[in-house]
Amino acid sequence: MPEQQKRHYDLVIVGAGIVGLAHALIAGRRGLKTAVFERDEEPRGASVLNFGMLWPIGQPPGKVLNRALRSMELWRDLFDDAGIWNDPCGSLLLARREDELRTLQEFLKISTEAGHDCRWLSPAEVAEKAPGVRQEGLLGALHSRRETLIQPRQALARLVSFLRERFDTSFHFKTEVNNVESPLIETTRGRFHADRVLICSGKDFETLFPEAFRESGTLRCSLQMMKTSAQPSPWKLGAMVTDSLTYRRYQAFKDCPSHAAMEKRVLEEHDDLERLGITVLTAQDNEAGLIIGDSHHTAWAPPETPDPAIDEKILSHLRGMIDAPHLEIARRWSAAYPVHAELTEVVLEPAVDTRIVLANGGNGMTTSFALAEEVLEATG
Ligand SMILES: Cc1cc2nc3c(=O)[nH]c(=O)nc-3n(C[C@H](O)[C@H](O)[C@H](O)COP(=O)(O)OP(=O)(O)OC[C@H]3O[C@@H](n4cnc5c(N)ncnc54)[C@H](O)[C@@H]3O)c2cc1C
Repeated sequence: MPEQQKRHYDLVIVGAGIVGLAHALIAGRRGLKTAVFERDEEPRGASVLNFGMLWPIGQPPGKVLNRALRSMELWRDLFDDAGIWNDPCGSLLLARREDELRTLQEFLKISTEAGHDCRWLSPAEVAEKAPGVRQEGLLGALHSRRETLIQPRQALARLVSFLRERFDTSFHFKTEVNNVESPLIETTRGRFHADRVLICSGKDFETLFPEAFRESGTLRCSLQMMKTSAQPSPWKLGAMVTDSLTYRRYQAFKDCPSHAAMEKRVLEEHDDLERLGITVLTAQDNEAGLIIGDSHHTAWAPPETPDPAIDEKILSHLRGMIDAPHLEIARRWSAAYPVHAELTEVVLEPAVDTRIVLANGGNGMTTSFALAEEVLEATG
C-alpha cells in the first residue's frame, strides 16, 4: 500500500481513554477505517485510575441512565468477546438511620419503572451477601444488581487488543497529536490524514483547541483514591458498598419524599466531609485489594497530589461502613476528569469535520459506549 494511503483514515481519534476507545469500538462496528493516537505508551488517564465501577444506580434518570443501561449491554458483550474480567457483584446502599431506610425504601418502589433492578436486604441478608459490611446499627440495605466491577487498566488493555484483532483498528501509542486542521493531523510521528477527527482527550482539554475549551465552561475535578494491599482469604467484601454520604447526592433519589430531610441531616452531621467534597465508596478488586475513594476538588487546575488529611477522613468514614481485616494502604493517587456546571457531556465542533467529545463527571466508564453511539450516529 502506498505510504500516503497508509496514513489516511476514515476516522482519527485522539486519546485512548475509555471515550476514545468507545468511539473506536462503534466506528469498528460501522466498518470505518480508524486510527487512535495516544501520547503515552498505554492509556494513563482517568480511564485507568478510577474505581472501575459500572454504576447505573448513580445516574440521573432519563438520557444519562439510558446511556448507562445501553452501555452495560455493550460491556456485557465485551466481557465475553474481549475476555474482560468483571464481577457482577452489584452495589449495596446501606441504611443505618430511619431517614435513610425511608428514602431507600421509597426509591425501591419506583426503581423498577426507572430501569433499575433492586431489592431490599435485611441485616441478616446483608451479612450473607457482604460479610464485610459492619452490622452494628444496620437497618438493611438496598441491593442494586446491575452494578459490575471491572479492573480498568486490564479492561482497557483487553479492549485495545480486541479492537486491533476484530476491526483492525490502528493504534499509535507514544504519539502526541500537536495540531488538527482536518483533513490534516500533525503528530510527533509525522502527518496523517482523516475524513473526520474526534478529540477524546479527557482533562487535557485545552491542548488542541484552547479557545473552544475556554468558552465551553469546562473545568477539572480532581479526586483522591486509595487501594489497600490484598485482604486475607477467605474474607470478602461481597459487593460494592456505599452509604448516604454518597447516595444522598444521586439525582434519582431526590424525588423520594424523605430525601430532603435525610440530606439536611447528613449535611449537618458531615459538614467537614462535605466541604472537601468527600463521598465514600469501596469495592474489592481481582487482586483482593479494596479500592477506596474519594474526594472532589473542582478548579481550572486542581491539586495533583493527594492530601493525607483527606485520605484519613475517607478512611475514618469507611471504618464505620465496613469491618475489613486491615486498611493498609498500598497505593494512593489523584486523578481528574472534566466537569461542567450543567452539561453531562460536551460535544463541540471547533472546526470542520472535527468534534471534541468529553464525558463530564464521574461516570465515563459507565456511559461512554452509548455516548459514542450517539456521537457517531449524529455525525453520520
Ligand atoms: C478517581 C476517579 C474515579 C472514577 N470512578 C469512576 C467509576 O467508578 N465509574 C465510572 O463510570 N467513571 C468513573 N470515573 C470517570 C471516568 O474515569 C472518566 O469519565 C473517563 O475515564 C474519562 O475518559 P476519557 O477517555 O475522556 O479521558 P482519559 O482517560 O483521561 O483519556 C484521555 C486520553 O487522551 C490522551 N491525550 C490527551 N491529549 C492528547 C494528544 N494531544 N495526543 C495524544 N493523546 C492525547 C491522554 O494521554 C489520555 O490517555 C472516575 C474518574 C476518576 C478521576
